Amino acid sequence: WLRERAGDRARGRLVVLAGPTAVGKGTVSAYIRENYPDVLLSVSATTRAPRPGERDGVHYFFVSDAEFDRMVADDEFLEWATVHNLSRYGTPRPPVEATLASGRSVLLEIDLQGARQVKRAMPEAVLVFLLPPTWDELVRRLIGRGTESPAEQARRLETAKVELAAQDEFDVHVINDNVERAAQEVVDLLTAVRSAHAPE
Ligand code: 5GP
Repeated sequence: WLRERAGDRARGRLVVLAGPTAVGKGTVSAYIRENYPDVLLSVSATTRAPRPGERDGVHYFFVSDAEFDRMVADDEFLEWATVHNLSRYGTPRPPVEATLASGRSVLLEIDLQGARQVKRAMPEAVLVFLLPPTWDELVRRLIGRGTESPAEQARRLETAKVELAAQDEFDVHVINDNVERAAQEVVDLLTAVRSAHAPE
């Protein structure tokens, strides 16, 4: 895919990190945010409330339902989705467009529905699927984090099964057996992509 995409020299590349629930996407993207300050990570808008330690404009733009409706109506999102049937999340389009146009790459950490929308809107985007080392490990992570009720855990495991089946739609597969290594693989994709269209 690198060669196929090397013709377009001016624009940066869009790399999308997605994967099943509880695979550790959030942990990998948090690790990248902390350890790779040069990586431009898109900041999503969400209607959910901030968790302790989350800052507006850093982890998310926390917006009201009305503001989210307005952004949808004004076509301000590259993609958006309702996640786990609860809150809405979306990628603001203007900052992504501006960064790509300036020749820099952008990383999105979004859910599968969003990843599919990005691929439709920008077929040149590189879709990365984060995989658990094993199914048992995914179950262990989902139950271990203890943030969901048993009924919700069962529901999310069903969702995870369906989500895992989507991996064939993705360009690159990264196994999250170790956060540092998985993060490095994702960052390497952004840099490999960048050097692939550096001047000769
Ligand atoms: P959390 O609420 O735990 O931060 O995120 C919940 C889910 O929302 C994760 O699966 C995350 O990937 C997804 N998500 C975060 N931002 C976006 C976004 O802008 N668009 C979409 N489609 N999903 C998002």
